[in-house]
Order: sequence, then structure tokens, then C-alpha cells
Amino acid sequence: MSGRTCDIAVVGGGLSGGLIALALARHRPELSVRLVEAGPAIGGKHRWSWFKTDLTPEGAVLMSGFRKAAWNNGYAVHFPRLKRDLDASYLSLTSEDFAAALTRELADGTIMLNREVARVEGGAVHLANGESVTARSVIDCRGFSPTQALRGGWQVFMGRHVRTPAPHGIVKPVIMDACVDQVAPAGNGGAYRFVYVLPLGAHDVFVEDTYYADRPDLDRSMLSGRIDQYCRERGLEGDPQGFETGVLPVITGGNFSAFQAEHRVQGVAIAGGRGGFVHPLTSYTLPVAVDVALAVAQDADLPGEQLAAKLEAQARRHWNAMGFYRALGRMLFTGAAPEERYRVFQRFYGLPEPLIERFYAGQSHFSDRARVLIGKPPIPVWRGAHALFSKSPPLLAPQSKELP
Ligand SMILES: Cc1cc2nc3c(=O)[nH]c(=O)nc-3n(C[C@H](O)[C@H](O)[C@H](O)COP(=O)(O)OP(=O)(O)OC[C@H]3O[C@@H](n4cnc5c(N)ncnc54)[C@H](O)[C@@H]3O)c2cc1C
Repeated sequence: MSGRTCDIAVVGGGLSGGLIALALARHRPELSVRLVEAGPAIGGKHRWSWFKTDLTPEGAVLMSGFRKAAWNNGYAVHFPRLKRDLDASYLSLTSEDFAAALTRELADGTIMLNREVARVEGGAVHLANGESVTARSVIDCRGFSPTQALRGGWQVFMGRHVRTPAPHGIVKPVIMDACVDQVAPAGNGGAYRFVYVLPLGAHDVFVEDTYYADRPDLDRSMLSGRIDQYCRERGLEGDPQGFETGVLPVITGGNFSAFQAEHRVQGVAIAGGRGGFVHPLTSYTLPVAVDVALAVAQDADLPGEQLAAKLEAQARRHWNAMGFYRALGRMLFTGAAPEERYRVFQRFYGLPEPLIERFYAGQSHFSDRARVLIGKPPIPVWRGAHALFSKSPPLLAPQSKELP
């Protein structure tokens, strides 16, 4: 290691950084790694969910060591004119369980908590407290940051874990219940709203109210009130066990080269949301973070410069592959009136299940794309065509991620 602190320094112990450290520990245990996190815990405080079909077999093995909730009896979606049960298995992992597994699996001394990074450069990470970590390769996973270069809207949500006094009787996740009021929150330009329901146990249920909005305003009391109302109407009242909020970018376009240039530091590789490794429409990153972690482990011997170039090229390929989902996002935000946006999803969920699985995995075939865009469009053709070429505002507001 020639006087360096470690072989690989990973900056940011969130989803992407944590998975990279895990993949290195599994596939290259002889390498010394540091996972440098500003916060008091790895992974923040929320839950990540995904479909079993989102992951490759290698990806599923990487995720196998985590304690997680799994529903092998499929999931449901509810729309005013469509109620459907689908077969794909669904999984969900809390950041507490993420942190516990990493603490167990990573070599002693790998995880460095409460260390805010002030600056990164090729071969070194400089902490706010004046210390430095030197490394052959540095990987920056500090999360998505606001940008002029990308355009779009926002997915805004609050989730609450409720313990009900009597068994709630829900047997499978309801990924989207759009049979709720679609009126936009006061002052926000418009929204597609749905509720997400995860039965965590006979008495435990997670209820999340989400809207796709033009602006990133997180109205906590409005969201909390909506969850109260939903729980009241569905007999899900009980003791709150915790909650999470999120404001995630929905990317509908922009200049990806300019986005990469904004974050590029000579010799530093970038992964996670900061590197653009997101599903532009669902805002989810777990499947792509798993792939990137495995790719890093495979090329862990590359010098920092080469690893940086490799991940930049992988991010550009990902951007190019995601063009269809950005176009759908434009249709959602600019093609449909806010109270009509649910129709885009209602029609989508009426399509064949393999197509839906490929959509979530970000692997839609050409024929899937045609099927989603043509046929009986849920919004007027002229508006849809206009939307495909229109521009959304820049993604300038900060991503919000808070819990008590
Ligand atoms: C409430 C919520 C629910 C979500 N649910 C899902 C889901 O179900 N499925 C899914 O795929 N995605 C989900 N997402 C999105 C997903 O969490 C993010 O896309 C993902 O966490 C991005 O991973 P990342 O590693 O790039 O960033 P993050 O996970 O945000 O990690 C970045 C890390 O870097 C650290 N950091 C930042 N600055 C510094 C610094 N200067 N020094 C040191 N450390 C620093 C942060 O503290 C943080 O731990 C959800 C997001 C939220 C907020």
C-alpha cells in the first residue's frame, strides 16, 4: 500500500457507498477500504424497496446478507378504473438493517462515522477536522446534489409506520393506491398522488403518501394529515412507530455532460445519485447501485484515474439507456393536467406484467416502449407530442431526507 491509509476510500456511507464497500469486502477481502460518512450512522434513516426482478442473480447474492422484509405473494395496484394483483416478489430493507449488516461484514476500521469530508482529490480525502485519508482510488458517493444541468420535477413523500391494535388484514404490498383525492397541494403547481402500503407484520403497516410535483415543497402537515385520513378510512389507525420523508428528483431531460462536468474532480470516481446512477422516473437507485458496486469490485485494481473514467463512461451509458423514462416523465409533468396524471399510470399498469417488470428494472425493450407510448393514449395526442419536446425547470432545490 506504500504509505497510503488504504487501497480504496469511499466517501459517503449511503446506499451506493455502503454497497460498494460490501461488494469489495465480499469479492476483494484483501483490499483495505475506508467508508467515510458524515452522519452518525451508515445509510441514513429510511427504507429502500425493490422488485426481485430488478436484480441480476449476482445482485441478489450481494443483497442476500441483509435482514429484510420480502413478499413472495406479489403486490397490488389500485386505480379508479383498474385494480390488479401482480406476481413479482417485492422486498424492503431498512437503513438500520443495512447498517447492521455492513457493521458485521466490513473489516474492523473500515467504517468511519461522524467524519464530514471537506474536499476530495485524486488519491486523498480531506476531512473537515483537518485529517486526511490517502488511497490509491477515491470514490465519491455523497448523494445527488442540486444542479442547473438537469431538468425535471419532484417526487415528494412522507411514510409512517403504524402499529394497529388489531390485525390489519392486508396481505400484500399495495405499491400504488391512486384511489385518493388528486387535488394538488395548495401552492404547488400540480401533482399525481398515490398511497403506498406495506404490510410489515400482522399489526404493522407502513403507509406512505407520495405526489409527483412540479416543485420540491415538502408540506409536512399536509402529508401527515393525508396519512391520518387514509388510515382512518381504511381502518389502519394505531400507534405511530416512526416516519420518513423524501424529496427525490424526477429527471426529464438536461445536459448530462454538463452535469458530469459540475461534479468531476480529476482522478476521483463518482457513483450513486451524484454520478447520475438513478432511474429518472421512479427516482429509485437500488438496482443500479447494486450493479455499480459489483462493477467496482470487478475492477478494484484500477488506478484512481482509470476507475473514474470507467464509472463516468458507465454513467453516460446509463443516461443514454434511460431516455425513454425521461420522455415518459415529460409526458407526466407537461402532457397531462395534474388531476389527470394518474391516467398515465393506470394505463401503464394494464399492460402485460413482464413489460412492467422490465420498466422498473430500467430494461424496457423497444417493443415495450412502443406499447407504452402508442395505443389508447391516456392524454390527448397533441399534448403528448408537445410534452415529448418541452422543457421542465432545472433541478435546483436540495434533496430532502429527514427523520426525527
Ligand atoms: C425516504 C426515502 C425513501 C426512499 N426509498 C427508496 C426505495 O424504496 N428504493 C430505492 O431504490 N430508492 C429509494 N430512495 C432513493 C434512494 O434512497 C437514493 O436514491 C439513494 O439513497 C441514493 O444513494 P446514494 O448513495 O447516492 O446517496 P445517499 O444514500 O443519500 O448517501 C449519501 C451519503 O453521503 C453522506 N455525505 C454527504 N455529504 C458528505 C460529506 N461531505 N462527508 C461525508 N459524507 C457525506 C450522506 O450523509 C449520506 O449518508 C429513497 C429515498 C428516500 C429519502
